Amino acid sequence: MSNDNQTASDAGVRPDNQDGSIQMQNLTKIYDPDGESVTAIDEIELNIEAGEFVSLVGPSGCGKSTLLDCIAGFIEPTYGHIYVDGTRVDGPGADRGVVFQENRLLPWKTVRENINLGPKMRSETIDGRAEELLSKMGIEGTGDQYPTELSGGMQQRAEIARLLANDPEIMLMDEPFSALDALTKEIMQELLLEIWEEDNRTVVFITHDVEEAIFLADRVLIMTAGPGRIKETIDVDIERPRDLDVTTTPQFNELKEEALGHIVEEAREAMESGQ
Ligand code: ADP
Repeated sequence: MSNDNQTASDAGVRPDNQDGSIQMQNLTKIYDPDGESVTAIDEIELNIEAGEFVSLVGPSGCGKSTLLDCIAGFIEPTYGHIYVDGTRVDGPGADRGVVFQENRLLPWKTVRENINLGPKMRSETIDGRAEELLSKMGIEGTGDQYPTELSGGMQQRAEIARLLANDPEIMLMDEPFSALDALTKEIMQELLLEIWEEDNRTVVFITHDVEEAIFLADRVLIMTAGPGRIKETIDVDIERPRDLDVTTTPQFNELKEEALGHIVEEAREAMESGQ
């Protein structure tokens, strides 16, 4: 947590922040490998509020990663635009941090060096920031270790610490916990919620796991089998703060059934159309 002598950025904490809204207008991405065009996402209109936690689910190949990569600025839409806080996205930026299933920690650098990389590149002071973030992520004392010396769960904690060091308004997470064992995954979900509730960042979270999608999010967006559009939006009105006990409640199960119904329908369509 920050104190009077620290800036929010030093602490990696963003109190009462209103930044991080995302607007998508007519967002379309058509890949054109060897002239055989594939429409990955099609005319998506979507607004995500600053500080909102949104999960994105849908059958494989429905365009989830493409959508996330467009927000990240890694790929350019074929048509349409994305705006972050009213400014058009035209490439990657420090306001958006991305976590993938496989972490992007540099194996030849220590955990501390990895965390300090972004702030150093922007010539920011880094005094104690890595230690503070490691402690926030529950892996204090690992700063001198190399990523491969850590377990998979600890690597993802270090990866999120690396991302938080850049103080992004928006966290884009592409199946970040899907390679972890069930117990570690649950611990990471609760940790992510703690951080999100503390820091007030916008999160867009891709997952195949409907329970995970509902447990974490304010809103679950279900995409159609390709070309990807938003098929359904499910508002998750479950009280916060949440812990995993909510996943056994009737309210949770109702939401899960509703979401699964839509997903199964889309998966069936995807199979029938040969995707
Ligand atoms: P998801 O994340 O939902 O699995 P993707 O966004 O990865 O879906 O892919 C959506 C569609 O776009 C798929 O049909 C996929 O084969 C295609 N696709 C993704 N990336 C490329 C690319 N670089 N070149 C050509 N086609 C691609």
